[in-house]
Amino acid sequence: MATNIRQFFFPAQAREAARLLAKLNSKAVVLAGGTRLTRALSPCVEAVVDISDLPLKRIKADKKWLRIGALCTIAELEKSPVLAKWARGVIAKTAGFGSNALARSMGTVGGNVVRAHPFNHLPPVFLALDAQAAYTDGRSEKTLPFADLLKPEVMRLFGVRVLLTEVRIPAETRSWAAAAQRLSATRTDWESVAHCVAAVDKKGGVCRKAAIALSAVLPRAARFEKAERSLAGQPCTEASAEAAAAEVVKSLAEFTQNSAAKAYACEVSGVLVRRALMEAFQP
Ligand SMILES: Cc1cc2nc3c(=O)[nH]c(=O)nc-3n(C[C@H](O)[C@H](O)[C@H](O)COP(=O)(O)OP(=O)(O)OC[C@H]3O[C@@H](n4cnc5c(N)ncnc54)[C@H](O)[C@@H]3O)c2cc1C
Repeated sequence: MATNIRQFFFPAQAREAARLLAKLNSKAVVLAGGTRLTRALSPCVEAVVDISDLPLKRIKADKKWLRIGALCTIAELEKSPVLAKWARGVIAKTAGFGSNALARSMGTVGGNVVRAHPFNHLPPVFLALDAQAAYTDGRSEKTLPFADLLKPEVMRLFGVRVLLTEVRIPAETRSWAAAAQRLSATRTDWESVAHCVAAVDKKGGVCRKAAIALSAVLPRAARFEKAERSLAGQPCTEASAEAAAAEVVKSLAEFTQNSAAKAYACEVSGVLVRRALMEAFQP
């Protein structure tokens, strides 16, 4: 831990925390669960804004949104009765991928997604469920599509200028059939070879809309729109799952410029996509 820290702040509201960040002008860091921060603290940091007591710990569903507070821990997602019933429990299942009990019980949703290391487990599930990120700059609350939060130029503002308050997932995704698959060397590895979430809105054995998100294989989690489009209006069969998986592998080959180092991860991604879709296609 660096030793240049001279001030600790314990704001009571998210807005107050964001105002402090603006006032401290990039010399402060936000502390949530602290599992990542302690590893990456720059010597330029002079103040810590500890947000761990802010009232951002609710998981709640209303008519429009499933709202997951930024300070919910990964373990809370895993055990939440609301999430157990949402999109076949895919968020809870993904939370359970967390490598160890300490990281799951201390690590928060906010810390997981605003410093979205390619191996972090939550970004692909939020991407696949069309999430929005709610944040405050100290003056007002705003939202942006979750995919935009993952852009480096946006992400670097979080925890420096603005504070993530909530991840919001559209209420309609509650009935989607979703599944998560990952391959890692061991069950306790944070790192995956590839990690996939597939979510399908289906009716009468036909796929109306599909979402496919992958992480680990690329520098940041991403959706695969060509593969998603290939599924729209198609029957929920092994053949359509295979066709979509082949589309994902094709896109990955382009994104990775056919890199030999990524060839295995790309192949594994195709297998995981097919498996996740087949799981989601089950009645
Ligand atoms: C040994 C070990 C194992 C791990 N295993 C896994 C794993 O299996 N899966 C996985 O996904 N991750 C894993 N992680 C990574 C990490 O623990 C998680 O991503 C965790 O969710 C981070 O949350 P935190 O609250 O601890 O973040 P912190 O360390 O408190 O903060 C991380 C960063 O995010 C910023 N931040 C936090 N909250 C907010 C907010 N609300 N608004 C704006 N900025 C914010 C902080 O300023 C800081 O820069 C592991 C980490 C370690 C050290």
